[in-house]
Amino acid sequence: MPSTALQGHTLPSSSACLGRATRHVCRVSTRSRRAVTVRAGPLETLVKPLTTLGKVSDLKVGIANFYDESSELWENMWGEHMHHGYYPKGAPVKSNQQAQIDMIEETLKVAGVTQAKKMVDVGCGIGGSSRYISRKFGCTSNGITLSPKQAARANALSKEQGFGDKLQFQVGDALAQPFEAGAFDLVWSMESGEHMPDKKKFVSELARVCAPGGTVIVVTWCHRVLGPGEAGLREDEKALLDRINEAYYLPDWCSVADYQKLFEAQGLTDIQTRDWSQEVSPFWGAVIATALTSEGLAGLAKAGWTTIKGALVMPLMAEGFRRGLIKFNLISGRKLQQ
Ligand code: SAH
Repeated sequence: MPSTALQGHTLPSSSACLGRATRHVCRVSTRSRRAVTVRAGPLETLVKPLTTLGKVSDLKVGIANFYDESSELWENMWGEHMHHGYYPKGAPVKSNQQAQIDMIEETLKVAGVTQAKKMVDVGCGIGGSSRYISRKFGCTSNGITLSPKQAARANALSKEQGFGDKLQFQVGDALAQPFEAGAFDLVWSMESGEHMPDKKKFVSELARVCAPGGTVIVVTWCHRVLGPGEAGLREDEKALLDRINEAYYLPDWCSVADYQKLFEAQGLTDIQTRDWSQEVSPFWGAVIATALTSEGLAGLAKAGWTTIKGALVMPLMAEGFRRGLIKFNLISGRKLQQ
């Protein structure tokens, strides 16, 4: 990420930036055992990843272990939100924590959500989105994460902050959610979609638990939308993503256009999409710049080899954004009233 990307924005403290680095870096430890071929093809290719990926259980265990191990460190350095900030061009300088809150606000705005009664937080981290949105709308929230420690911490923080029984967090799989059909009027997935090995099942579960008239929101990493007549990504692009996938242990990616088709296939309407790759780019610049400070480098060295390996891959993420290959997208849709 070029240093010019940082101009006009407040950098967080070194430890905070390193915290963000650590989240991405630590993903390495869960994503190291195999390379995954990136597919950019038609909808059908999104239907079969469970079989092509093979050891989905390994992926789940890896993700759970990673968040069990890293979440306390992340919280100490960055606070309760484990997602990118939103930094629109020309906006006044703001802190990264404010930018993370702005990401939630902008997401709700684009999705047209002005109220909610019952929310589900799919891939909830330590519950930051649930607490913020519950304060805003007075809604309840049920959060699921693969990490038992995250679920426990999310419950403890929410109790401490006086939410009582309004917010409940548990271990659960987004691909087989422990909830009744139609249980929630706001279905929220903030930066968990990139972990999902079966995007079709993921979206179908989001749609299933959504109540008629409710809203489904996914904010996630995607690859670029393919041009007309393009059967897939170019070889050089595949090679870049292969290196990232190998280091970060990510399953197959898809484009926002693929997500749109999956939303449509579930009968969701009023579909909105956004490409916020520009708006999040200062965040990556800050992470890389801070990881390269003496404090950042010392922290990386202390953390160990898998962390260093992840840091070495960060410039490839920045390169992917620069080349227009990697995108940061929002997709939202509404379930029809019955
Ligand atoms: N949405 C939160 C946390 C994002 S970190 C925030 O914005 O702060 C990614 C989260 O996705 C983690 O909590 C991780 O446990 C969760 N996750 C990944 N795969 C999952 C799955 N299959 N089922 C449920 N949660 C999952």
